[in-house]
Amino acid sequence: MLTSLGRRLGRIVAGQEGEAALYGDAASHRLAPLRRPPPPGVLECPICGLRARRFLPFGLARRPNALCPGCGSLERHRLLWLYLRTRTDLLTTRRRVLHTAAEPALAERLRARHGRGYRTVDPFDPTADVRAPLTALPFADGWFDAVISCHVLEHVADDRAALAELARVLAPGGRLILLVPYDPTGPTREDPSLTTPAARLAAYGHPFHYRIYGHDLGRRLAEAGLVPTVLAARQWLSAHRRRRFRLNQATLFSAVKQA
Ligand SMILES: [Zn+2]
Repeated sequence: MLTSLGRRLGRIVAGQEGEAALYGDAASHRLAPLRRPPPPGVLECPICGLRARRFLPFGLARRPNALCPGCGSLERHRLLWLYLRTRTDLLTTRRRVLHTAAEPALAERLRARHGRGYRTVDPFDPTADVRAPLTALPFADGWFDAVISCHVLEHVADDRAALAELARVLAPGGRLILLVPYDPTGPTREDPSLTTPAARLAAYGHPFHYRIYGHDLGRRLAEAGLVPTVLAARQWLSAHRRRRFRLNQATLFSAVKQA
């Protein structure tokens, strides 16, 4: 998706292409092409099991060893998967799960586990189960056991409304598993006066992001009735595992809806 973003950035900054065009394009959701895996080596994808000496570069800065050539996963997806596998029963037990802007590598595996209980939602993607914004979800109160949202909330102008809506569709005791751009060294950086893709690219490093979250994210989750736990990759995975699975400094929030 970001590779596509890089290719089209000039048009976006010039105002010739909007967010719906970028994320609604099914081509941008295709997996990276499969290639013949090299012999087992340093890196391993915990999602698809591929071992390779190198992963592919990704992002506007062509971050090295970021994208798994087997399943298209990025560092944050592999961290999320390790969390699901080691800290939840969502890969072993059939549940009702809502996945926002679902990543294909994760979606196909979660759908295989949860069947019709698994629902994807996206305002732009025509392949999503439900086309809707996070601020107006067409689901009943308390319907889902878990919501997975990975690098989506920063795309939503009114993120407090989105968090309230995600909390509404969670059952009491249900869990929001959330990843966002996060820098805990300061408060959330956001400026509603930045209304153009060019201005937001300059401020946040992405033309369609509204903010970079800071140490007050926990409070925003609490305001929505969610009790958050913060898990930084470097706090719960050894340096060896972080290297082996090629994770970065990603942080994951696990927020439980109060009964
Ligand atoms: Zn993979």
